[in-house]
Amino acid sequence: MKILVINAGSSSLKYQLMDMDNESILAKGICERIGIDGLFTYKPQVEGKTQIKAEPVSMPTHSEAIQAVLNALVDAENGVVASMEEIDACGHRVLHGGMEFTASCIVDDACEEAIKKCFPLGPLHNPANLMGIKACQAVMPGTPQVAVFDTAFHMTMPAPAYTYAIPYEYYENDQVRRYGFHGTSHRYVSARAIDMLGNPEHSKVICCHLGNGSSLSACIDGKCVDTTMGLGPLAGVPMGTRCGDIDGTIIEYLMGRYGYSIEEMMNILNKKSGVLGISGVSSDFRDLEAAASAGNERAQLALDKFHYEVRKDIGAYAAAMGGCDAIVFTAGVGENGAKDRAEICKGLEYMGVKICPERNAIREDEHLISTDDSPVKVFVIATNEELMIARDTKELVSK
Ligand code: AMP
Repeated sequence: MKILVINAGSSSLKYQLMDMDNESILAKGICERIGIDGLFTYKPQVEGKTQIKAEPVSMPTHSEAIQAVLNALVDAENGVVASMEEIDACGHRVLHGGMEFTASCIVDDACEEAIKKCFPLGPLHNPANLMGIKACQAVMPGTPQVAVFDTAFHMTMPAPAYTYAIPYEYYENDQVRRYGFHGTSHRYVSARAIDMLGNPEHSKVICCHLGNGSSLSACIDGKCVDTTMGLGPLAGVPMGTRCGDIDGTIIEYLMGRYGYSIEEMMNILNKKSGVLGISGVSSDFRDLEAAASAGNERAQLALDKFHYEVRKDIGAYAAAMGGCDAIVFTAGVGENGAKDRAEICKGLEYMGVKICPERNAIREDEHLISTDDSPVKVFVIATNEELMIARDTKELVSK
């Protein structure tokens, strides 16, 4: 079975064609500047095929982008399938599933309506995600489409974890609650960690998805019991450009002082805050590392703040679960930032976390970085959201 995985943004669309018989990638790439002019990148993963790198292709809408993807996939010379009919289904990443979706689902009219209902909860992503689905329906009529939600994995949280301490009517009438994001990644790495622990009963795993956007989750027996992001992806630990948890009073205070509109204020919190905001240098952890090494004190402060908040949430989740069997690091910083991992785990020895510096320095897709006698196992596990989307899609269309 061949599955096309789509992650559609407002002006970009990432894709990956997977052969689910052996879970291998046949081709992947990205369409950029959709609605502006259009740039097309195609990377076949089959020997002897030629790549296309950021080539201009007219893409007034997502439909032309999908058409460009299909043209490349079936191209006589550099394609990886003989015809479009070989693609059995498409799996789509959808950011916000609200309270409606606790799992992935085949897209039908009711599902589309429910995704639309979640537009106010995910105003930047959900409309684009639906555009990707509509474009595939238009260009590949009859091919099943599956929606995989970033929020679904977190829907097992108990009420005290997802309830905000504001008037309860906002939950009842307006669905204001903690939802959490990066759910597909948390689901993948928590399941891998349980496997690597030897499938114990009642496993308690803390997943740290640390990338440009970052979130932690606490998982008991592979089910999420808490996560750091909230109604939207602004909450939790500081991120590349997002502020993470702040006191709401700051919003009123700065809007009053500078006359910002709510849009300007939200733009500051989403795009100009986080480690970029503190350092004034960059949102990229490699740049921060370089600047801090060269003596930039604010770059060092940004790193210290990030490490401190992640460490604090690990402690909070160990308390929330009454213990911890494993900590997992994943995503850009989690997988590559050996120094970040070491800094985060510094001072966690009291709760049984002993990092092995030699193991931590090695770059591998999946490995143990704690010492053999560390009561808490610490793993680096490369996340694979596309594989999870393809697996869900395969399962749903096979039923
Ligand atoms: P992601 O959003 O998962 O793609 O992660 C992007 C982040 O990973 C960026 O902030 C990068 O700086 C960071 N990253 C990539 N490589 C490294 C590295 N070797 N050390 C620290 N951070 C890294």
